[in-house]
Amino acid sequence: MPFDVKALDAAGLRRLATSLGQSHYRASQLARWLYARRARSFDEMTDLPKSLRATLNEQCALFYPLVVQRHVSEDGTRKLLLQLSDGAFVECVGIPSGENRLTVCYSTQVGCAMGCLMCATGRSGLTRSLTTGEMLDQLNVVAEDFSEPDQVRVTNAVAMGQGEPFANYDALLAALRLMNDPELLGIGARRLSVSTCGLLRQIGRFGDEPEQFTLAVSLHSAVQATRDLLLPRLSAQPLTDLRSALVRYRLKSGRRPTLEFALVKGINDTDQELEALLAFCAGAGAYLDGGILDAHVNLIPLNVVDHLNWKPATAGRVKEFGAALASAGVEVSVRASRGGDIAAACGQLAATKK
Ligand code: SAH
Ligand code: SF4
Repeated sequence: MPFDVKALDAAGLRRLATSLGQSHYRASQLARWLYARRARSFDEMTDLPKSLRATLNEQCALFYPLVVQRHVSEDGTRKLLLQLSDGAFVECVGIPSGENRLTVCYSTQVGCAMGCLMCATGRSGLTRSLTTGEMLDQLNVVAEDFSEPDQVRVTNAVAMGQGEPFANYDALLAALRLMNDPELLGIGARRLSVSTCGLLRQIGRFGDEPEQFTLAVSLHSAVQATRDLLLPRLSAQPLTDLRSALVRYRLKSGRRPTLEFALVKGINDTDQELEALLAFCAGAGAYLDGGILDAHVNLIPLNVVDHLNWKPATAGRVKEFGAALASAGVEVSVRASRGGDIAAACGQLAATKK
């Protein structure tokens, strides 16, 4: 049974080369063909010896995702529906901005097991996790889609598509390292972000990694009962533990975590919610003596999803949250949602054909 060559990390590719009696140099060549040159087959890899190509053809499977649907937003955002080797569908989004910036929002799983209330992905449950290559390929597919008439490269990537990245930690880390590798995609570590709903053990591991990857946590409420409602699978997790994990992450990595906060009218945009968020940031109230967090808060008005009749907080209320955080000395930004007209915004990815 051939095995998927794109399920391997860099060390796995070196082990494969060794097992075939080849040098590590061949493993680097193979990685470049797979990820920098976007090869569709081993036969294209003309600087590998013919006998090696034949062996690779016998022993390994190589698959490149198929773009089965694309939607282009009026703001330039593009959402691509991809079909993978086993027929599964995932979505990825390309977000151009400024002169030369292209951000890719990629998926890390087919579906998601976390079942967050306001998220379209969470509705379907988890089918499977993606392989390292399936995550990285999404960046290449988007780059190709934007490379008309001129070649473009992906400058930023966020693991904010379908799935919970930290539920697929090892394959994700391997993908981040290949994205970061100057011989492959060459994206700076600080421009590679991961968003988690808050898996504590993995936040700890992420802080220990040597690279300066960026961490975002979907907080959405600093009131325990509200967070339990929004993220039911994490309802056993005390917010004080999440905060401690983030304080440790900041101390270890020297990096400031981002807190994602999607504002829902009447649910988490009340005065009590604002107070709790300020206390979470400052280490006050229920979060007294928890240490300095120094987080960046990202406010996002809720993106409307079919299965809920919840509404986003008003623009005025979002502004008030922003102003209150800023005057308390918290670094805050209001994220303008992109691609809402093609259901490509946060929480809207469902990977169904429309
Ligand atoms: N599973 C990861 C990353 C993917 S979700 C996570 O949960 O962090 C990407 C972001 O979209 C998360 O911050 C998530 O909480 C947010 N999100 C989910 N549904 C949303 C909605 N309807 N409106 C705005 N943001 C939403
Ligand atoms: Fe999964 Fe993130 Fe959606 Fe929650 S918000 S269901 S963790 S993808």
